[in-house]
Amino acid sequence: MERLIVIGTGPAGYSAAIYAARAQLKPLAFAGQQLGGQVAISSEIGNYPGFPEDINGAELAQLMQRQAERFDARIEMDIVTGVDLSTRPFKIVAYGGEHETQGLIVASGASPRKLGVPGEAELSGRGVSYCATCDGFFYMGKEIVMVGGGDAAVEEAVFLTRFASKVTIIHRRDQLRAEKLLQQQAFSNEKIEFLWDTVVTGMVGEGFATGVNVRNVKTGEETLFPTQGVFVAIGYVPNTGFLDGQLELTESGYIVADDDQRTSVEGVWAAGDVADWTYRQIATSVGAGCKAALQAEHYIAKLEGTVYPGGAELG
Ligand code: NAP
Repeated sequence: MERLIVIGTGPAGYSAAIYAARAQLKPLAFAGQQLGGQVAISSEIGNYPGFPEDINGAELAQLMQRQAERFDARIEMDIVTGVDLSTRPFKIVAYGGEHETQGLIVASGASPRKLGVPGEAELSGRGVSYCATCDGFFYMGKEIVMVGGGDAAVEEAVFLTRFASKVTIIHRRDQLRAEKLLQQQAFSNEKIEFLWDTVVTGMVGEGFATGVNVRNVKTGEETLFPTQGVFVAIGYVPNTGFLDGQLELTESGYIVADDDQRTSVEGVWAAGDVADWTYRQIATSVGAGCKAALQAEHYIAKLEGTVYPGGAELG
């Protein structure tokens, strides 16, 4: 039986694994769909302390993995498909088999939100992408669009100008949500244009995207906007499907966790984007993963009748 399982290997999962491993809980961490989480497919990261020059996302994720493994955390390249939190120990089901664990940290992150318009699913991976760093290279010299107006959309649009000859940001309002520094970078980039007050109503193309149907929300005018590639960055939805309703969720599907990362089930903590609809930063995820692991260490020490080495009771 495991003492602690961590679901997810984004910054929250790695942080939890590092703290738990240093507490000698020998945590087992499931990598999920994307080893390293969203960070691993981010381009340059400039706001995580300790890296005065930007650091590449994949490189940061690898550093976190190395640090977790150095303390004997085990990273399993498997996906958790179900859990049973009604029994003790908890049961965790992955493609590779079943596991039992005393404690569980859910750090399963979030996945890109889809527009949900006709043609999107069919053309996904065929000219429609949710990951600029993964697919940008394929759009060398092409004219493409980016849908969204937040940090991710603007940052990725700027990144895509390394490859594309033109990037048109299609945003549903007339103001960007992205932070000011990113906005400045986009406004001063000659390859970036904007289509304001516009929503995408469909994606068109025979086997590969060749255009998007758009509607101006102010005039109601509908047109076909030709393009050679469509990137979508309109936020994320939390990855909670495998929980099958066993933890309390918010209306929008995030895990409800208190300030100490406790969930509605004792012995289960949630950390990172799966439980954070406000900050969603690497720094906040790392902090949440740390808190979850310290709580788990305390809980398991009590369960095993040993003394929590931190001394003072955690709240
Ligand atoms: P976000 O901040 O939630 O922004 C989503 C954007 O997509 C918004 O502009 C929103 O429009 C638009 N949108 C949402 N649903 C839409 C729909 N159905 N159709 C059209 N447009 C839609 O998401 P994000 O940019 O992915 O960022 C997520 C989090 O990660 C944020 O906390 C962000 O600060 C962080 N992040 C930070 C960095 C960085 O610091 N460099 C980089 C990437 C992400 P409205 O503006 O009209 O709501």
